[in-house]
Amino acid sequence: MCHIVIVGSGITGVTSAYELIKKGYQVTVIDRHLYPAMETSFANGGQLSACNAEVWNQKSTVLKGIKWMARKDAPLLLNPSFDLHKYAWLVEFLGQIKHYQENTRETVRLALLARERLFQIAEQENIQFDLEKRGILHFYHNENDFKIATQVNDLLCSGGLERHAVSADEIKQIEPALTGKYYAGFYCPKDATGDIHKFTVALAKVAERLGVKYLFGYDVMDIKKQEHAVSIQYQASIENMQSDAEQIETLQADAVLVCGGVGSYQLSHQLGERINVYPVKGYSITINLLDQHSVDVAPWVSLLDESAKIVTSRLGKDRLRIAGTAEFNGYNRDIRADRIQPLIDWANRNFNISTKSCVPWAGLRPMMPNMMPVVRQGKNERIFYNTGHGHLGWTLSAATAAMISEKIASVHPL
Ligand SMILES: Cc1cc2nc3c(=O)[nH]c(=O)nc-3n(C[C@H](O)[C@H](O)[C@H](O)COP(=O)(O)OP(=O)(O)OC[C@H]3O[C@@H](n4cnc5c(N)ncnc54)[C@H](O)[C@@H]3O)c2cc1C
Repeated sequence: MCHIVIVGSGITGVTSAYELIKKGYQVTVIDRHLYPAMETSFANGGQLSACNAEVWNQKSTVLKGIKWMARKDAPLLLNPSFDLHKYAWLVEFLGQIKHYQENTRETVRLALLARERLFQIAEQENIQFDLEKRGILHFYHNENDFKIATQVNDLLCSGGLERHAVSADEIKQIEPALTGKYYAGFYCPKDATGDIHKFTVALAKVAERLGVKYLFGYDVMDIKKQEHAVSIQYQASIENMQSDAEQIETLQADAVLVCGGVGSYQLSHQLGERINVYPVKGYSITINLLDQHSVDVAPWVSLLDESAKIVTSRLGKDRLRIAGTAEFNGYNRDIRADRIQPLIDWANRNFNISTKSCVPWAGLRPMMPNMMPVVRQGKNERIFYNTGHGHLGWTLSAATAAMISEKIASVHPL
């Protein structure tokens, strides 16, 4: 039987494993963590947001970013210290401004396909992940920002998205929990939210029942292409106390699929390729709604504050996720108090809920310079990639997993 090894058990790896096992492949997933979805697919913003498909490669975004550099609580921060990877990435990012329109439209297309596939999988496999199909509401604080956003809205709609303008009054009707002042916004009624961690863990279990094998607690150290196979060398990771840390083991496969999130950069180097994923850090807080009043007045409709670049998702009755910020600061995963506080302050400004119990988190978005996921065969016919989903991995993975499994099936038919 044709054996595919997947590196990574985040949302991209697990959705790919599911699609491949359904097609009849033998599938093994390796991850350095002891459980699935322990890195970026752990506590993200929760939005399944075709409405947020705009790529960031725009002159106005670059200018905003430069202005923000002087503000400590800015939505985007760049550590200016020299790092070749970071600056090479930024130069490539600027070079992609000319593809802004086509890449935004393509992202909408992928997001719409993914929405359909994800709902289908959740229903077929009975996956409970706090799914809320109440749409996503974007809001703006002044006329100028709203005017600029109208052009973006036209572009998104030209890609096939249903998203329409709403007035300040309509914003409050759509989500009465909002207590601030807003100029106007856009509403995308068919978008949704859900808990990425719950979904990934549950789907990993479904895939295991269907036959997927997992090697948790192992670092992939090297991948060697041979003429008729690929050999994967792996070693117990720092989290793995059960196995001999020194022992290097080898696994043979017919092909390897790289779904390594921010680790895909190093994995592609091992394979003699360059997948230029950069880790763009973000933060979230999960507010535990402990009292009945907070449960009653916390928002259910998912929100995106366009000037603060903050998103919200209601995850069941008693959790509200708030996420945001983009930091260019390498692989550092520290949870900084001065980046968490603006999220708490924002919650206090916009809702009448208690923020007494907040669980902070930081994660690294695996971002490509053109903001498009890499879903393709590598230079070698036994290497494949499904990675680099950036700020939209939750939104896009169900589509890209189906696409890469089709590609693998066409190159390595059963
Ligand atoms: C603050 C924040 C908010 C976000 N909000 C949203 C949102 O609202 N909507 C949305 O669509 N997206 C959002 N995202 C983006 C989304 O979370 C990511 O795109 C997605 O989780 C990436 O999934 P992944 O599978 O590529 O990576 P990961 O989930 O990081 O999985 C990669 C896995 O590969 C493993 N790995 C890597 N290298 C190796 C190796 N050598 N050996 C063994 N294992 C290895 C890692 O251990 C890891 O488990 C957000 C991200 C952040 C940080």
